[in-house]
Parts: sequence; structure tokens; C-alpha cells
Amino acid sequence: MKCLILDDSKAITGLLQLIIMDELGAAEALVANNVADALLLLENNPASIDVVFCDLNLPDVDGVAFLRMLAEQGFQGYIVIVSSVSHRVLKSVEHLVRNHQLKFLGTIIKPISPQSVVQLLQSIGSHGAVKPPATVKEKLTVPELIEALEMGYFECYYQPQVCAMTRNVVGFEALARLKSPKRDLVFPDDFIALMEQHSLILRLTKDQIISVFKQWKIWHQQGHCYRVAINISALLLNDLELPGFILEQINKYGIKPTLVTLEITESCLNEDRIKALEVLSRLSMYGINLSIDDFGTGYSSIERLQSLPFNEVKIDRLFVQNAVASESERPVLDSMIGMANRLGLRVVLEGVETLAHWQMVCHSGCDSFQGYFIAKPMSVDKLEKWLRDWDKMTH
Ligand code: C2E
Ligand code: MG
Ligand code: MG
Repeated sequence: MKCLILDDSKAITGLLQLIIMDELGAAEALVANNVADALLLLENNPASIDVVFCDLNLPDVDGVAFLRMLAEQGFQGYIVIVSSVSHRVLKSVEHLVRNHQLKFLGTIIKPISPQSVVQLLQSIGSHGAVKPPATVKEKLTVPELIEALEMGYFECYYQPQVCAMTRNVVGFEALARLKSPKRDLVFPDDFIALMEQHSLILRLTKDQIISVFKQWKIWHQQGHCYRVAINISALLLNDLELPGFILEQINKYGIKPTLVTLEITESCLNEDRIKALEVLSRLSMYGINLSIDDFGTGYSSIERLQSLPFNEVKIDRLFVQNAVASESERPVLDSMIGMANRLGLRVVLEGVETLAHWQMVCHSGCDSFQGYFIAKPMSVDKLEKWLRDWDKMTH
């Protein structure tokens, strides 16, 4: 692992260098005391720096500007902010990093504790704060996506949702994966946006719906009555035919509409309001559940909750993570849950990732939980064993 440390204090760069090299024997640490030197080091080590430790207060060009430069260069490694600025400033910089599409690994508050540095670096690649870097070497192309649709290379993975009170499995969210013979497993972040841009998302969504309902029928024949959640791109809310298609499939597979939830990401609900309202009203008339995905990260959520027929919110994992990380963030999560409860909405909490998350939220007023602490999304063939294990563990 190669790290770059940018800090104007030689004491700090020295300390970080020691921690990185001593505690993580295999690591190499380059040092810069100003942005110009850091850029030079990046230029001389293209694509080989895995982590940048970035101080914010620097003479001349500051750390915030440096983050922008990293984004402009398409830097692929992780970012760690090392600073002693206030909590609010750190939060805003953290958002900035994410908005720059840089990979945020975490924050280290001065004075530096060696343990916090080691922990952060060790979380790379584990299922911790960050997603492992995409395994795709070459970018996906549109012809490749079309081929994948035609050849049936997309597969549904299922992530369990469990009841907050009983811990019983109530259902699953279906998440798309691309399993092409030419590549390692590809995650949605690498293909959904491209498929939206090239009008391929409708085809993928229809395939997903059919495959999920087929799977539901198999479960039903085995005596289960699970709920199923499917992600719907907000772009598809302009498609007045979609509700009819879904209803047709519901009838074909004999699933109760009340067991189906469509998750729509809040941040994209801006498009054509009138058409979306028509589509959502129709789906809701059929008895299908509508959920706002990544709730809390979009715009004007309260107005939307009131005017659109949603009956569930999925609170974004950011809020759970923040609440565990900092006591002062806890009221944010609590008030979101409280508001949803008072509006009569079901509340699903995403990103229950660790035991600490679980313990903090288990009496928080949510209806169900989803997250790595319960299970990662998995292919159907792994589900049966997981279900048996979960049942044993909870009963
Ligand atoms: P989402 O609907 O919010 O799905 C939850 C995402 O969070 C999934 O990522 C899941 O693997 C991940 N996740 C679940 N629990 C945890 C946890 O405890 N910690 C962390 N760090 N992550 C967790 P995934 O599968 O990569 O999907 C990413 C997004 O892609 C989804 O976010 C959804 O918006 C979109 N997506 C997935 N499948 C489809 C699809 O078939 N159609 C459309 N339109 N979008 C899809
Ligand atoms: Mg979702
Ligand atoms: Mg979500």
C-alpha cells in the first residue's frame, strides 16, 4: 500500500509516516508539506497512490482546493482528512469529498492516535466504511450492456430485511448484479447510470421484476410469504405503461400487491412531476407499496412525503453511520424516524452494518432493518443456508 501524506507540520507528517510504516509493515509513505509538492509526487507516481492523508489548513493552497484538484485528475485512491477543525467543517468537507466522487475513507482528528490510523487503513477492502474499488478494469460500454441484457447476464441478488421487533425475516430487496463471463461481478454503481442514459433501464427493470416475482412464487410454494422490494429508476416514472406491466406480472405470478414494494430514490424525483404523480397514484391504487430510497439525502422531502403516495421511507445508511460515530448526530436520526412514524409511514433502516449500529437502533421505532450486520446481498443459491443460520441464531 502506498500513502501520500500532505501536512504543513513536519511533526505530523513524521508521526503519520512512522505509524504507517511501523504498524503496517508493507506500507510506503510519501510526504509533502504543501500542495505543489503533493501534486508533483502524484505526477511522479501515477495510479500507484492508494491513500492520501490530507490536512485542511495549509499555507498558500488549502486542503479543500487540493481535494478539487484530486477530483479533476480522476484520483482513484482513498481520502483521509487529518485535521483539528470543528466537527461542522469536517462534515461539510466529508460531503465535498463524496460530491467530488472521491472515495472517502474517514477522518483523523488531531492529536493523532496510532490506533485510529491503523483501523482506517485496515478497513480498506473489508466491508467497512468504504466499498471495495470496482473490479471493472475497462469501463462498460453500451453494446456490452445490450449484449448482457440479451444473454441474460444480469442477476438479482437478495438482501434480507428483518423485523425490528421479532428479528424474523420479512422480505428481501432485489439488487442487480452483472455476471458476465468476461468480467468479475459488476455492481450497480457501474451500470445503472449508463443504462439510464441509454434507455436500457426499462428493459433491465422489467427483467428484474419478472425474475423477482418468479422467485417469490418459488418461495410461496415452499410456504413462505416474503415481501419483495425492487428499485425503480425515477426516470421510469415518466412511463405511463409501467403500472400496467407490473400489474400484469403481479397477476401472472399470483403475488399480492401489498407484498411488493417499489423503491424510488428521492434525489431523482424532480423530473416530470405530473406524469410521476399519475404513475405513482396508479401503482398505489393497485395496492403496491411505494418507498423513498436513500431518504434524507434528496430535496424537499417533507413536501414530497405529503404530496406523493409513498407509504415507506428507507433512511439512508449515512444517518445510521453518523449517529454511531457521533453523539451529536443521534437526534438527526431519531427525528427522521419520529417524523416518519408520525406521518404513518413504515420505516426501514439501511446500512445496519455492525453490532454497534444494531444495538443503537434496535429500539429506535423502525419497522425493519437491512444491512451487512444481518447479511450482505446474496445470490439465491446462498439464501437457503443463510435463512437456516439466521433462524437458528435468533430463536
Ligand atoms: P440502494 O437501493 O440504496 O441499495 C442499498 C445498497 O447499499 C446496496 O448496494 C447494498 O449492497 C448496500 N448496502 C446494504 N447494506 C449495507 C451496509 O450495511 N453497509 C454498506 N456500506 N452498504 C450496504 P448495491 O447493491 O451496490 O446497489 C447500489 C444502488 O444501485 C442501490 O442502492 C440502487 O439505488 C441501485 N440499484 C440496484 N439494483 C437496481 C436495479 O435493479 N434498478 C435500479 N434502477 N437501481 C438499482
Ligand atoms: Mg433500494
Ligand atoms: Mg438506499
